[in-house]
Amino acid sequence: MPLLDIVTYPDERLKKRALPVEEVDDEIRRLVDDMAETMYTAPGVGLAANQVGILKRVAVVDTDYADADPNLIVLINPEIIERDGKITWEEGCLSFPEILEDIDRAARIKVRALNRDGEPYELEAEDLKSVAIQHELDHLDGVTLIDRVSFLKRRMIHRQLVKPKTSD
Ligand code: ZN
Repeated sequence: MPLLDIVTYPDERLKKRALPVEEVDDEIRRLVDDMAETMYTAPGVGLAANQVGILKRVAVVDTDYADADPNLIVLINPEIIERDGKITWEEGCLSFPEILEDIDRAARIKVRALNRDGEPYELEAEDLKSVAIQHELDHLDGVTLIDRVSFLKRRMIHRQLVKPKTSD
């Protein structure tokens, strides 16, 4: 399975809303498998299709990847149907190398999505798993961590990742 190239800020595809998957077919399953491998290799705890330049509502999350048994969560056409509480987590993003920012999220969520076989399921998540899922769902709406920080921080992140061409 090929590794996919991860799109980084300020690529325009990170700002686009991904479109719903109409049918979970072999092409989508291949995308899921390639995204999972790309995420594990990076390594990261989540990856959304926008981040590999594909505007489909597909994301993968695994917050247990450091354990012996991986626990891959496949989210196709995901929707948050319940959210509760508040949590602040220092988040990173494979599309924002070396950036870590405190972001406020719901502490607990319930998600409805399709799995790799196209079957609907619901999942409850808290702590890092909840944070990672909300982060990936943001990506599918064209929202990244730079949209969730103050104006000042946004400018600092931009300067750090977009180096002036005349600097050397
Ligand atoms: Zn991200």
